[in-house]
Amino acid sequence: MKNCIFLLTLAIAPDKRDQIEALLASDAPWGWEEKDRDDGAIVFGVYSEQRHALEDIAREAGQLCPYLEAAIEEVKKRDWQFAWREFFTPVEVGSRFVILPPWLAHLSHTSRREIIIEPRTAFGNGHHESTRLCLLALNNLLESGRIRKGDWFLDLGCGTGVLGIAAAKSGLNGTGLDIDPVAIANSRENRELNDAESLELLAGSLEKVKGEKYDLVMANILSQPLIDMAPQLTAAMKKDGCLVLGGILDSQGDAVADAYRACGLGDPSLLADGEWIALVWEAGRDRTR
Ligand code: SAH
Repeated sequence: MKNCIFLLTLAIAPDKRDQIEALLASDAPWGWEEKDRDDGAIVFGVYSEQRHALEDIAREAGQLCPYLEAAIEEVKKRDWQFAWREFFTPVEVGSRFVILPPWLAHLSHTSRREIIIEPRTAFGNGHHESTRLCLLALNNLLESGRIRKGDWFLDLGCGTGVLGIAAAKSGLNGTGLDIDPVAIANSRENRELNDAESLELLAGSLEKVKGEKYDLVMANILSQPLIDMAPQLTAAMKKDGCLVLGGILDSQGDAVADAYRACGLGDPSLLADGEWIALVWEAGRDRTR
């Protein structure tokens, strides 16, 4: 194995920050570093063993930012591992959860439920707003008693398995689906690390669970696929079930909500973090029935 890795450094004007973050969220889902430079520029650092992946990101960033400074250098793997580990700090979400890499797990005396995620290439290490917003929505549904132990959930586009693992560790049973087999492999590894046996993991999409109905459907994907899948996703909800949608930019929220209203849902509530939002439909359920 080669003992080196590549570091892409991008320096941009601050007004392009959102666009570069959105690009990195899709093309560098394993994470990146971000610093403010003294001259006001924002400097992003992205590590990868694949130089061509970084070249692709630099090219796309160049199209978004005409005044981009970009450089790719080789760094010693030992340094990279150090930087990588430093980057994966614990992420607390709501009152219940903390997402941690394995080497930080079980160290702290926290009352929070630990979600242990081995950083690999799949999306969902807690360092992206959309993951945190969906997890916060789950946290809130559990807090309010809308979702309870023993309920059934679907995690569509499970990535690392982060949302499904959080649900399973909260006493729910369910299925995580991802069209990317690498994400499913990563989710399975994380399921083991978390002893989250009540999470079933399958490669594929909604066709794998046709006809099933869930108390909670979570899908942190992107606006357009969420709009396209509105009929199938709403069909997967029990009549009084809840729905959490993430991966949506603030500017796309109305279009996504409209697609679900057209399928018979009411108005969603909204959680926001910067330019990212999650939409939440929590059907009022009468548990005394
Ligand atoms: N749930 C994780 C990961 C979200 S990233 C989190 O909240 O952080 C979105 C994931 O959805 C990716 O892993 C991608 O492969 C998967 N995906 C995209 N379209 C999909 C579809 N139609 N069906 C199932 N998975 C899909």
